[in-house]
Amino acid sequence: MGTGHLTIDLDALVANYKALAGMGSAEAAAVVKADGYGTGVSKTGRALMNAGARRFFVAVAEEGAALRQALGPNADICVFGGHMAGDTDMISDLGLVPMLNSLDQVLRHFEALPGHPFGIQLDTGMNRLGMEFSDWAAVADIALAQKPVLLMSHLACADEPDHPMNAHQLEEFRRMTDGTGVPRSLAATGGILLGPDYHFDMTRPGIGLYGGQPFNEARTVVQLDLPVIQTRSLEPGETVGYGNTWTAERPTTIATVSGGYADGITRHLSHKGALWHGDIPCPIRGRVSMDLIGVDITDLPEEPKALSLLNEHQGVDDIAGQTGTIGYEILTQLGLRYSRRYAGA
Ligand SMILES: *Cc1c(COP(=O)(O)O)cnc(C)c1O
Repeated sequence: MGTGHLTIDLDALVANYKALAGMGSAEAAAVVKADGYGTGVSKTGRALMNAGARRFFVAVAEEGAALRQALGPNADICVFGGHMAGDTDMISDLGLVPMLNSLDQVLRHFEALPGHPFGIQLDTGMNRLGMEFSDWAAVADIALAQKPVLLMSHLACADEPDHPMNAHQLEEFRRMTDGTGVPRSLAATGGILLGPDYHFDMTRPGIGLYGGQPFNEARTVVQLDLPVIQTRSLEPGETVGYGNTWTAERPTTIATVSGGYADGITRHLSHKGALWHGDIPCPIRGRVSMDLIGVDITDLPEEPKALSLLNEHQGVDDIAGQTGTIGYEILTQLGLRYSRRYAGA
């Protein structure tokens, strides 16, 4: 097979879920937006449900359709983007729970789907989604009378435990929700690690489930192996790839592997980083092209059938660190051409 092989370790996913859920007494939901952070929401969603997750979060109502199909009627599927114009049928037919973000959304929801479950998203300083204090003060009595299932907000700096924004948002969240008697949620992965003050009734881990920072103890979930299509021998002075950007300085063996920027392997990895053969790193040579990457295997004792871009030696955060981004982006860019295998669970 000519495509890269993506292996998703569902046992590791479940272990990460249980570890994060076990850090406090709050119920742990699961954030599975963007197709389960690129891992494939049907399989990962079901594995998380079997592990005990009962509430799932997606970004937009459209993402609820595949998830509802995978999970059946007994999971709560919540939508961060709330109730957008045109979403009413989807929300109703799929039984989604919108997190209402504005006065407009509150009015739309109460008018279109009276009695249909909803939550409220509050802005405590991130200035992204949710009602600010004054909006909430204006509508709180009416909204609370309709019994929201959740009051939630999101932390802007939770991956920096010492950042003063964390305590500020915590205080703001309390000021807006104390005494309401409604279940509350503030913490994503970073917030869970800040400790129980941040947990409230429900946590919303995402990246940590899939093996990413800031959950340092996470088990590796994603392995990516790229098959070697051809190997070739270079004399000193010969070059590799578009633009002749790398020149051999010694007799060199180059493996050309199947995978490139069309698979989400960013071109910023050109001349940086390595693919792995077991526990031996093999440097990338020349530019990453659309479907192919040249890798220096001169020092390997044998010719490999495939080389790993993601494995237990090199995770999404390592690649992110080399290319100026975050593990979240590496995961959600995982290509659609890979053959996928789900291991465990
Ligand atoms: C994406 C997201 C999460 C999950 O965040 P992680 O950092 O991936 O754990 C939780 N809440 C909201 C509002 C989000 O947008």
